[in-house]
Amino acid sequence: MRNVLLVKYGEIATRGSNRYLVENRLIKTIIGRLADLPGYRVYKEQGRLLVVNEEGEFDYDEVIPRVVTTLGVTAVCPCTETEERSIEHLQRLGYEVFKSKYPSGNISFKAITKRSDKKYPLTGNEVSAAVGGYILNSDIEGLRVDVHDPQAVIYIEIRNSIYIYCGFIKAVGGLPTGSSGRATVLMSGGIDSPVAAFTVARRGVEIEAVYFDSPPYTSERAKQKVIDLAQRLAVFTGGVKLFVIPFTEVQLKIYESVPPEKITLFLKRAMLRSAELTALETGSLALVTGDSIGQVASQTMEAINAIDSAASSMPVLRPLCAMDKQDIVDIARKIGTYDISIRPYEDCCTVFVPKHPETKPKKSIIEKMEKTKLEGLEDMLKTVVARREEINCQNTVHTDSVNT
Ligand code: ATP
Ligand code: MG
Repeated sequence: MRNVLLVKYGEIATRGSNRYLVENRLIKTIIGRLADLPGYRVYKEQGRLLVVNEEGEFDYDEVIPRVVTTLGVTAVCPCTETEERSIEHLQRLGYEVFKSKYPSGNISFKAITKRSDKKYPLTGNEVSAAVGGYILNSDIEGLRVDVHDPQAVIYIEIRNSIYIYCGFIKAVGGLPTGSSGRATVLMSGGIDSPVAAFTVARRGVEIEAVYFDSPPYTSERAKQKVIDLAQRLAVFTGGVKLFVIPFTEVQLKIYESVPPEKITLFLKRAMLRSAELTALETGSLALVTGDSIGQVASQTMEAINAIDSAASSMPVLRPLCAMDKQDIVDIARKIGTYDISIRPYEDCCTVFVPKHPETKPKKSIIEKMEKTKLEGLEDMLKTVVARREEINCQNTVHTDSVNT
């Protein structure tokens, strides 16, 4: 008998012949996250993964935070594994597992058995009745059975070995990182874009980020904020490559060349195009922004319509487009980016923001003005993109608690 961690994963199962590749990727990611802890191994076990410690006691406090933040994992169950298959042994073990979780009793419960080993001599219902009855009649006080809406559940999974556990811990879900190609996120230091990055990463997309830096109008600390955000996202993805693009001369050119109410529109177009130029070099398949319809002047439907055509060779994903600010804030808090995002450092848009930005621009006019008033812009964007700084932000906060 030993303590192990059963790892459940979701949608991978629907992925046909890709399934083994994606499962193996998930196993590799988890192995990587446990690499500095001696003795841990990860196995595939009939549609689940199993984490075991072959050299000593299982340290759940150390292991669980690393596994529940792994994209693709839907839940984990700390459980007891046994080779001994007699029903008397399972009754005794079920009792011990239940008692250690609910020592003071006074709770409704039921037993659920999953019998993957079809040769096991008792049916699933018979096992549940035997183990549940044993616990009910034990010295744990105030127990009652409720099969419809129990407060506690004891699970018995009969596989090559038998696993017994009480409940599970919900994990981050989604798909394993890298199983869905790569996208480039336009990441400011704000609340929205890190959430947009996380939302897309959660679908298995490998994300890299671009940040447009405008020194001396924006400070080193504003840049550090974006680095910290990328590092926070790396808790889930393992790593985020961040490109810092020096944007001051582009900002100044726009500032000097177009009417004040249109500055933000051209700035956003320049950002989108620069991100696209970067993505084309790195093999990204899409751009991602934190836009949410109607949130600010540059995010009205008209503005999005006028900005979008700046990147013509790949889709611009706006995963937050239909979300309310509060919903976005809730996610930011859960994934731990909120406290970083609200640090009060200016970003380049706030420095150059016009007093009365245009909210209903016309795409045809904007596109025409870009050609006439911003001659040479495309070459300038190519130059600043080539001057980008590359920062590899790695996951260093394994054990930090992340509320998934
Ligand atoms: P956020 O909270 O993500 O900063 P926001 O609500 O402040 O968004 P805007 O400042 O209009 O909205 O930015 C809209 C989107 O444009 C951002 O979500 C981000 O994708 C992109 N963006 C804005 N500024 C920058 C920047 N300096 N570097 C990279 N991307 C940026
Ligand atoms: Mg912003």
